[in-house]
Order: sequence, then C-alpha cells, then structure tokens
Amino acid sequence: MTKAIRIHANGGPEVMRWEDVPTPEPGAGEALIRHEAVGLNYIDVYFRTGLYKSALPATIGMEGSGVVLALGVGVTDLAVGDRVAYAGGPIGAYATQRVIPADRLVLLPAEIDFNTGAAMMLQGLTAQYLLRRTFPVQAGQTIVVHAAAGGVGLIMCQWAKYLGVNVIGVVSTPEKAELAREHGADHVIVGYQDLPAEVKRITGGAMVPVVYDGVGKDTFNISLDCLAPLGLMVVFGNASGPVPPVDLGVLTAKGSLFVTRPTLATYTAKRSDLVAAAAELMDVVAKGVVKIRVNQTFPLSEAAAAHIALEGRKTTGSTVLIP
Ligand code: NDP
Repeated sequence: MTKAIRIHANGGPEVMRWEDVPTPEPGAGEALIRHEAVGLNYIDVYFRTGLYKSALPATIGMEGSGVVLALGVGVTDLAVGDRVAYAGGPIGAYATQRVIPADRLVLLPAEIDFNTGAAMMLQGLTAQYLLRRTFPVQAGQTIVVHAAAGGVGLIMCQWAKYLGVNVIGVVSTPEKAELAREHGADHVIVGYQDLPAEVKRITGGAMVPVVYDGVGKDTFNISLDCLAPLGLMVVFGNASGPVPPVDLGVLTAKGSLFVTRPTLATYTAKRSDLVAAAAELMDVVAKGVVKIRVNQTFPLSEAAAAHIALEGRKTTGSTVLIP
C-alpha cells in the first residue's frame, strides 16, 4: 500500500483525506515514481472545489519530483533510479507514489534539488510559455503581471527582467510588494483599483501591450483598461473566480483588443514542446537568473492547511508538499 490525499466529494479543504491506496503498477508507456516532493498549485484548488471536473474519488495534484521505481513496457528513455520531475495532467500528484505517462517526465539535473524541481515545473513552464510564446515579450516593453509575489508571479518578474522587460507587478500587501521588487519588478502597485491610472502614469500614457492576469473575475475589466490599442489580455487563471462571458463589443471600444485564455496543457501537449520548454526553464534556473522561492513547505498529509494558506493569500512564491 501507499498513501494519498483523496477527495470523495468536491468542497472546501476539509474534503481532502489522507488514505491508504494500493500501490499502482505501471502499464505500457508508464512509469511508477516515488515522490520526494509535490508542488502546490492554484489549479489544485479548482479540482478540489469542482470548478475543474474530475471523476471521484480523485487524487488531485499536477506536479512533482521524485525517483523512478519501475517502468512499463515500451519505455526506453528512462531507467529505474532516474531523478525526474513533471507538471500537468493527469491529476494524481498528492500521493507518495504514482504512475504517470513516461512521456510527461523530464530528467532533473543533479544540481536541482527535489523541492526546487517540484516547485518549478508547473509555475516555471507557465511563465515560460506566457513570456516566450503567448506574447513573446521584447526588451524595452512594459508589461503588467498580477499576483506578482505568487508562485507564477515571482518567476515571471525575474524572467521578464532577464529579458529586458519593465514589469509592473500587482500585489495585495506592502510585504508582497517588497518581495516582487526584490525579484525584478520595476514598479509594484498594491491593490488593483487604481491600476489603469498607475499604468498610465508609469507608461506616460502609452499603456501596455500585454497584461498577464491569473486573478480572473475581480481584475478582468481593470486589466483591459491597462492595455494599449491592439493589446493582448492574457487571462490565465481564476484565483478570484472565473471571468463571466464577455461582450466582444467591449474589445472593440477599448481599442481592437485581443484576449486569450491559455493553458499549459496546450503548450506542452507535444513531447517536443515540453522538452524544449523544460530545457529553457532549467537553463534560467541553473544560471541563477530565476530563483525558485520555496517559501512554504507542508507535510503532504496536511495538504488542507496548504490549501487554506494558498486560498487565504497567505503564501508567497512557491509551496511544496513533502510526502
Ligand atoms: P499564487 O501563488 O499566485 O496564488 C494566488 C494569488 O492570487 C494570491 O497569492 C493572491 O495574491 C492573488 N489573488 C488575487 N485575488 C485573489 C482571491 N480572491 N483569492 C485568492 N488569491 C487571490 O498561485 P499560482 O502561482 O499557483 O497560480 C497563479 C495563477 O496562475 C492562478 O490563477 C492559477 O490558476 C494560474 N495558472 C494558470 C496556468 C495556465 O496554464 N493557465 C498554469 C499555472 C497557474 P495577492 O494577495 O498579491 O493578490
């Protein structure tokens, strides 16, 4: 037997239960891994509450690092004992051991420890596709990043800075503002009510070509008002709830704006894209350009406390659950 956090119904953090589960066996093309660390992500909250659907009972979680224990038939590019990490579906990371399609795993270089590996994959690959593919930022541009002291946020601030971009970070407290500044944000706005006016002031009226918004419902309209004509609104999350249906005429009125609602799953669906993005991420981490801040750790068995902290906006940077 192994241990896993399972949910039997959608709901609050209390629906997560630490249970015995049979040790899974890897099928064809799969690997059995022992987790050394599991990444906590906001998407775990969406699967717990039912905003994102899964069959029940379910083991939630989409990110981890660990060691390969066994391989199914047909897996030729991994060996038992390899150090690996992954991000993305299928869910099932909140477990001491799990099986996963082997083509979702990447090797973890010796210089990257397991906690960093579990913290960096989902949030780091997200920062990678947002900054390099959804809207390929260019040196000298100014961008807006919401939740700039969060997991994705701190990585985006550092990576954008490295690319020569001016970051306007948005956070909820002065302490988070300090953290975002320390990680490369050139300007930090506490609270978003006056954001368009602040962006106007900072950009001398030009506004920004892109807003990266993982907050969703509460900030959508405010973010649109920060964009220059033909600007791109990137809604990549729902921390405050999903954005309700949009009247497309609003995009016309505000300057022929573009909107996208991307997900990492699309950007890493092809193995070649996953490998290329992970290589870029590992490179900036290895160079020290992007430091992965594991600012909270919790025992995996206490995942409920981690969810309460994340939803309560009490975390900064990344959080790791230890099996
Ligand atoms: P964070 O560490 O950023 O935590 C969420 C942060 O959102 C909070 O700390 C808080 O920062 C801010 N926030 C604003 N309003 C609320 C609210 N009402 N309730 C809770 N938090 C709020 O989480 P992650 O780094 O894991 O994820 C950031 C976002 O990116 C999430 O929306 C997530 O779903 C999304 N995401 C999307 C991916 C994709 O491919 N589409 C992949 C990965 C993440 P503050 O207090 O400063 O406002």
